[in-house]
Amino acid sequence: MYSDAHVHLDSYPAAERDDVIQRAHALGVELMVTVGTTLDTCEQAVALAEHVPDLYAGVGIHPWWVVPWSDELEARLRDLARRPRVKVVSEVGLDYTRGPTTQPQQRELLRHQIALARELRLPVMTHNDRPSQEDLLALLREEGAADVGGVIHGFRGDWPFARGCLDLGFVISLGRLILRPEGAEQLEVLRRLPRDGLVLETDSARQGPGPAEVALVAQRVGDVLDLPPEQVGNFTTANLKRVLRV
Ligand SMILES: [Zn+2]
Repeated sequence: MYSDAHVHLDSYPAAERDDVIQRAHALGVELMVTVGTTLDTCEQAVALAEHVPDLYAGVGIHPWWVVPWSDELEARLRDLARRPRVKVVSEVGLDYTRGPTTQPQQRELLRHQIALARELRLPVMTHNDRPSQEDLLALLREEGAADVGGVIHGFRGDWPFARGCLDLGFVISLGRLILRPEGAEQLEVLRRLPRDGLVLETDSARQGPGPAEVALVAQRVGDVLDLPPEQVGNFTTANLKRVLRV
């Protein structure tokens, strides 16, 4: 069994989406998390999760689409996050490369969203880029994210960053980056990760094969750890279920 911790199914044209989901199911992907990035896409993610078995949703405002926190935003996010198929606050985090001028607003938005996650007892799934990794870790620590744990989506970073995240009860999510030469550093982190600290993802959006590709990611992980891909699929799926409490 495989699982995809992070996809954006709302971004696929409706006509293709069913095929993408069916292809994933056919390859043994039995658990997926589709996440929104704005209020609109969060609503779409929740609606999709309500119609597909084994698909759960994440809601949150992505740092690329940073907006000022307001009572209205908080109320709408809380309403969405309380829907039964929502299992995580995502996609939230920091991106200093894409948003160099909005760093303070990004941190503010993230603090509020972690507080909401704690209030609702939902884990947090983060986005970050390399320059923001220390700030992300410090902020997760300061805001008590360890109370709910979560997933470091699209992990790119060094071992000390990974270790710090694990110490807060987060798991590391590896994806298609490790299929490419640029992912060599992630493979080094992978070799040091405890078995219960890893989940897999494709971050599929808009085009491409979709979550079915997580089988290739599992294969790569299996090659590195000298394990059959099915076994990698099984333990990463168990980890994801534990974090999401499903
Ligand atoms: Zn994403």
